[in-house]
Order: sequence, then structure tokens, then C-alpha cells
Amino acid sequence: MPELPEVETIISDLNKKIKGDMIADFWSDWPKAIKGKSLEAFRKEIKGRKILGARRLGKNIFVDLSGGKTIYIHLKMTGHLLIKSKIKNQKSKLRNDYFSDRVNQYVHHIWKLITNNKQLTTKTLEFSDLRKFGKIVLVDADKLKELKEIKKLGVDAIDKEFTFDKFNGILEKRKNKMIRDILMDQNLIAGIGNIYMSEILFDAGILPSRAAEKINTSERKKLYNSIKKILKKAVKLRGTSDSDYRDTSGAPGNFQKVLRVYRREKQKCKKCGTIIKRIKIGQRSAFFCPRCQK
Ligand SMILES: [Zn+2]
Repeated sequence: MPELPEVETIISDLNKKIKGDMIADFWSDWPKAIKGKSLEAFRKEIKGRKILGARRLGKNIFVDLSGGKTIYIHLKMTGHLLIKSKIKNQKSKLRNDYFSDRVNQYVHHIWKLITNNKQLTTKTLEFSDLRKFGKIVLVDADKLKELKEIKKLGVDAIDKEFTFDKFNGILEKRKNKMIRDILMDQNLIAGIGNIYMSEILFDAGILPSRAAEKINTSERKKLYNSIKKILKKAVKLRGTSDSDYRDTSGAPGNFQKVLRVYRREKQKCKKCGTIIKRIKIGQRSAFFCPRCQK
């Protein structure tokens, strides 16, 4: 599932590429993804609106439109957004055309856009979603925070509001809980999933199964710094493409090249040579080095 760095990459792409464009039309062959409205009502309500910009909270995407409306998108397991445009009179295919990759072939929703860029003939925002768990909701911008999924979200993991004191407070309140579960609980800290939970805990030298109360203050500080450090590095590398995630050009991210524990079970730790282990509780896996992490 795309986590904070992947969604942040998408947000910055959207703001670079479609801010100021107008929605001309919308098409979908999977209207189930559109919550609380029929496809036709959704289409009618967004047509003619201008895209003011995109923002994010945790893994949730908000595309603000003119007239006080916001499209809320959750990519869930395999969703990603593609922005395609055709340049006038251009016949040959672009070099490095990632759109033809298999992973980008599951387009179920298309926004047709009108752009001010006179060099372009057509422009679309496309939602590719292999497993079709993604969702799209049109809301009044001023009521966005009242949505039940949004209301309960915790502080965003790279937001300035997420201070060490706040983090410490979360650990105090959930002292019996395993640290891996605290890091991934979107209602406590928004944005971290399986990939970055494992990488952050390796960076901090803490075992995923440790209870919050067993983590001392200096370890908590180290862990807090690792959260910021790993997520910022992953944003810089445009996220992790270990399976379906792609950016809006259809291109993979780069963080999978520097993963130290995630999906590396039975391989040697890059730091000490010990074999990386995986623990699975329920649906969720954590990867760790039994020697580097205590
Ligand atoms: Zn190690």
C-alpha cells in the first residue's frame, strides 16, 4: 500500500502538473469506487470545476476544486494516479514511456482535463487500480474534517505539529502496545505502513515487538528522529516501488534500492551480516535484524 512518501510524491506531481486545469469530463468502469454518489451525479458535480491544488493527510489525498468542493481519494492497496498528456503534432512515442508497463494498465477512472498549456491537445488524470479497493469521495471542502475516516486520523508523521513531546505522549498513552502497532496506527500517527515501520525501527535499533513502556527516553528520541529521517529520505527518492506503486509518470520510485530490512527476510543484514527475520501477526509483517535491533 502506498504510504506517506509515495502519497507525498503524488501530491507534489499533481500540484506541478494539473493545478489550474479544468475538469472537462469523467469516465469510470468501476463506479463502486465512488462513495455516496452515483457515477452520473459525481460526473455532473465536478464538470467545469477548476483544480485549485492537492494536499494530503497521512495516506489520504485531497484535490481541492473551485466552488468549495474537494475530491478525497484513498489509493488503498494497489491504486496510483497517472497524468497523461499529448503534445500537439507529436507522432513518435516518448522515450521512457512507462505508461505501457503492466502495472499501469488497470485504469478504472479517468478525469479529462482542459489545460491552459496551448502545446497540449489532450490531458487526463487516470486512476490505475489492479485490485479495485481504491475510493473516491466528493465532499464539501469545509466538511472534509467531519468525514469519519478523516476525523479520527492522528497527526501527520512529517508535519511540524508532530513534535517529540507529542510522540512521547502517544507512547505514554499506549504503553502496553507493541511499537510496530503504534507506528502503523493511523489514528495515532498518520502515514506509516509496513514498509517504513520496518525501516524506521531498524534505523532506530529497536525490535518491532517491544512494548512502548520498555523503550527509554534516549531510545524514544532516536526513534523519533528515525521517523523523520527515513520518511524524508523516502520522499526525496520518490517512494518505494516494491510492487504496484508508481508516480504520475508511471515511473517507479527509488527507495526499494536502499531498503535495509523490508522484504529482505533470509538475506544478510547490510550492517552486521546476520540473517534478517520476519514476524507476522495477523496480516501484517515486520522485518528486522535480530542483532542490530534490541
Ligand atoms: Zn544487523
